[in-house]
Amino acid sequence: MVCAEKIRLRDEYSATVRCLRAALKNLGTKTGDEWVKGLAASKAARVECAKARRALDEHKAQHGC
Ligand SMILES: [Zn+2]
Repeated sequence: MVCAEKIRLRDEYSATVRCLRAALKNLGTKTGDEWVKGLAASKAARVECAKARRALDEHKAQHGC
C-alpha cells in the first residue's frame, strides 16, 4: 500500500538533503565573511534536514506505513 503522506514527507526530506549537500559544497569554495555566512546557511540546512527526517520517522511510527 502506498501512503501519499509518506511519499510527500520523503520527498521533502530528500529536498532538504540536497539543499544541505549544496550548502556544504558551496561552503568549500568560500573564505572569510562569506565562509561564516555559508557556515550559518549550512547549519540552518542541517536543522531543516533533521526536522524533515523526524517528521518522516514520526509519521511512519504513528501511521505504521
Ligand atoms: Zn503513512
